[in-house]
Amino acid sequence: MPSPALYFLKRKVDPNSRSYAADMPSAAEYMRRVKEKVREVDPKDARDATGLNGASANGAGSGDHARLIDVREQQEFEESHIPGAAHVPRGYLESRIEGAAPDRSEHLILYCASGNRSALAARTLQEELGYENVESLTGGITLWKDRGYDVEVPRALTAEQRSRYSRHLLLPEVGIEGQLKLLDAKVLLLGAGGLGSPTALYLAAAGVGTLGIVDDDEVDVSNLQRQVIHTTDRVGEPKVDSAETSIHAINPEVEVVKYNARLDASNIMEIIEGYDIIVDGVDNFPTRYLLNDATVRLQIPVVSASILGFDGQLAIFKPYDGPCYRCLYPSPPPAELAPSCGANGVLGVLPGTMGLLQATEVIKLIVGSGDPLVGRLLLYDALAASFTELKVRRDPECPICSRDPESISEEEMGVFPDYEAFCAAAG
Ligand SMILES: [Zn+2]
Repeated sequence: MPSPALYFLKRKVDPNSRSYAADMPSAAEYMRRVKEKVREVDPKDARDATGLNGASANGAGSGDHARLIDVREQQEFEESHIPGAAHVPRGYLESRIEGAAPDRSEHLILYCASGNRSALAARTLQEELGYENVESLTGGITLWKDRGYDVEVPRALTAEQRSRYSRHLLLPEVGIEGQLKLLDAKVLLLGAGGLGSPTALYLAAAGVGTLGIVDDDEVDVSNLQRQVIHTTDRVGEPKVDSAETSIHAINPEVEVVKYNARLDASNIMEIIEGYDIIVDGVDNFPTRYLLNDATVRLQIPVVSASILGFDGQLAIFKPYDGPCYRCLYPSPPPAELAPSCGANGVLGVLPGTMGLLQATEVIKLIVGSGDPLVGRLLLYDALAASFTELKVRRDPECPICSRDPESISEEEMGVFPDYEAFCAAAG
C-alpha cells in the first residue's frame, strides 16, 4: 500500500480518471431544474387559495382551503410566519410531514424565505412521498411581506421553557404554538384525589399555565395508596395545599388557584367561570348533575372519569358538540348501586391509568390535535386488560342540552334528590 498522501497525489494526476464534478450542474442550474419539476404559486394566488385574503372567516388549513407549510428552521419560523402555517423544517420533512398533513391528496403550499428550499421540499413530497397537490410559494415569505400581506409574529418561549418543553416542541402536533396554548390554558380540577393526583402532576409537567383545584378534604394516610400527589409527611394538611406543593416542585411556573371548598349550587358558577376545561373526578352523582348543568350553561367542556374496583370509564362532555352527562344518564342509578355512598375498594393504580387518560384528552383539547373522546365512552377493565368503546349520542329530548344555554336557570341546575336522603335510602 502506498502512503495515503502518495495515493492521493496519484489519484489526482491519474489521466484516466474523469472529474465527476465537471458533469454536475452549478447550484443555480440545479435549482432551475428542480423548479421545472414543481409547481410554483404567486403570493396573491396562495393568499386566495389559503383563505387569507379575508374572503372567509376561516384561517389557512381549514375546510377546502390549501394548507400552508413553512419549511424554514425553527428560529426563522419563530421570528415571523404566515398566519395558520404549520411548521415542518425541511431537515425533518420526511419524518414530520405526515403529522402536519396526513392526507396526501390535500392541496399544500410550501414556503421558505425566498422559494428555493420550498421548491426542494415540494419536489421531495411529490416525487418521494406521493403527495399529489403540492406547490411552492414564489419568492417565499420575503415576497409575501413585500406585497404587504400579513405575517404573524409569535410570542417566543424563554430559554428555560424551550429546554423544559423541548420534547413537546419536537412534536408537530404540539410544537411552539401548542406549547403556548398550554401555557395560556386554564384547567380546573375537581378533586385532588385519586384521579386528580396524576392529572394535576402531568398537566403541571406539560406546562398548563393555570391549574385550579377544588377540594375541601385533608390528606389521610388511607389516600396514599393511590393519591400520588400527596406524601406521608403531609398527612393532615389540606389537600389543596399538599397538591400545590407537589405541583410547584415539578413546575414552579404553574399558577395554582386553590379552592378549599366543596362544589355546590351556591359556589359552582363563581368557581368554574373562566376556565377553559374542567377535569371531573368527583365521586358523587349530585355534584355530577350540578356540574353538567352549569358547564352546559357556560359551554365549558368536561373531561370526566370515574372508577370503581378494577373498572374505569372516561368521556368528554363537550356542550352542544356531543352528549352531556344527562343525555347519557337521564336519571341517577338506584341509591343502592351508587358507588359514592360510603367507601369502596379501588385498585391503587386504576385512578393513575384513568387520570392520565383524562390528562391526555385535556392536552388534546388545548392544542387541538387528534380525535377527542367526544360522543364516545371508553371503558377500561383492568383485570381483563381490555378497553371497550361505546358510541354515545346527544338526546334531542335532553332536559338540559336540548335548550339554549341562556335559558338554563340557576334554580333548576343540579336538580337531584337530596343526597343524604338518597344515600340513607341505600341503607
Ligand atoms: Zn344533554
